[in-house]
Amino acid sequence: MELLKERIRKDGKVRGTDVLKVDSFLNHQMDIELFEEIGKEFARRFEDEKITKILTIEASGIGIACIAARYFHVPVVFAKKNQTKNIAGDVYTSKVESFTHGRVYDIIVSKDYLGPDDKVLIIDDFLANGAALMGLSQLVKDAGATLVGCGIVIEKGFQPGGKMLRDKGVRVESLAIVDAMSEENGVTFRD
Ligand code: 5GP
Repeated sequence: MELLKERIRKDGKVRGTDVLKVDSFLNHQMDIELFEEIGKEFARRFEDEKITKILTIEASGIGIACIAARYFHVPVVFAKKNQTKNIAGDVYTSKVESFTHGRVYDIIVSKDYLGPDDKVLIIDDFLANGAALMGLSQLVKDAGATLVGCGIVIEKGFQPGGKMLRDKGVRVESLAIVDAMSEENGVTFRD
């Protein structure tokens, strides 16, 4: 998605070797007109699928998923991050190792909002090692729902998550794939 790549080139900031900061339009301040274009692009790529629910993870995925949902006309469910050991109630749960914070946390979704009739599109801001998407797809599996695919805004293609998921047969649609990045030279995109 050229508009997104241009924006990353203009406003993205590379930190160290593997963190891309996009706080000015995606992760802190949010450019809703850009989110609308992102939502339309996800809707175009998944238009042949009868998606019933969008699943994302708090916090950064929520804004993107909500705008995308306007084009799919389906509800958004976000997995909650739960750092306490006590998981109460009727929930699906799985574990995720955070890329940005390094710690492991539980994610939960109520059994009320995901079930065997659902065809689920997972949406998230970044794909790095794939831990977040693996955790979310486990919740979909536990619910007996169908995972249609994953819509990702920025995939870091030099990290293993994308290949791992595609090798497992998961359809992953990333709107910008970064093949290399450095503080000196900025980002290089695939195609
Ligand atoms: P993964 O679970 O695929 O290793 O990492 C994905 C999650 O970590 C995303 O939900 C995102 O919040 C965060 N993340 C991973 N890499 C980056 C990055 O380079 N920049 C930002 N802003 N977030 C990232």
